Amino acid sequence: MKNIILIGAQGAGKGTYASLLKVDLDIPHISTGDMFREAIKNQTPVGLEAKKFIDAGNLVPDEVTIKLVDERLKKPDCKKGYMLDGFPRTLPQAQALDRITKINHVIVLDVREDVVLQRLGGRIQCRKCAAIFHLTNLPPKKKGICDKCGGELYTREDDKPEAIRKRLATFHEQSGPLIAFYENKGVVHHADANSPVPREVADEILKLLKA
Ligand code: ADP
Ligand code: ZN
Repeated sequence: MKNIILIGAQGAGKGTYASLLKVDLDIPHISTGDMFREAIKNQTPVGLEAKKFIDAGNLVPDEVTIKLVDERLKKPDCKKGYMLDGFPRTLPQAQALDRITKINHVIVLDVREDVVLQRLGGRIQCRKCAAIFHLTNLPPKKKGICDKCGGELYTREDDKPEAIRKRLATFHEQSGPLIAFYENKGVVHHADANSPVPREVADEILKLLKA
């Protein structure tokens, strides 16, 4: 079975690898962050509840999050397996998941702090249309100007080095106990996510899943 959890810091490239792997493995990519954003957009009961917490920069309560994932995993497309991204984030979530399903692999994406700072720190966004560019990876045609609408490009407050370091520290605090929980079950693999070529990292993950 291919019941997989991806764990990786912001900037590890989780979303990018997941979009390659879901094609390779033919299983859905389930991101709780994406599901919450979708629920908020559609103003569903879960969305309205989650919005209060997300806007305040907090985690959504475990009961709400667990219920959302439990319902998603019951859908027929999860029969062959799935890739969880952003869940579980707390020990109670991992314990609840344990009662719902059996996880076969936990892939921990290891990425150096300087690589994360480069990836996230270079991100620039348009003030007008919110398009995203990158100083080196995806530069705009004209420096500081949005290709799409001509708006001004700026560095978001949460992409400044100090804020990035703080987000990383929070991630390590949260993920430590989770990784330990799954290490006890012998299902953890570490993948090197420092490569600038997503295909390379995705291929390493595929190898780990087969081993
Ligand atoms: P970020 O990496 O910025 O936290 P995500 O897209 O993973 O972005 O999640 C967006 C928000 O959704 C989080 O800040 C949190 O409030 C909520 N969220 C996502 N996953 C979970 C989870 N497993 N438990 C609680 N809240 C979650
Ligand atoms: Zn723009």
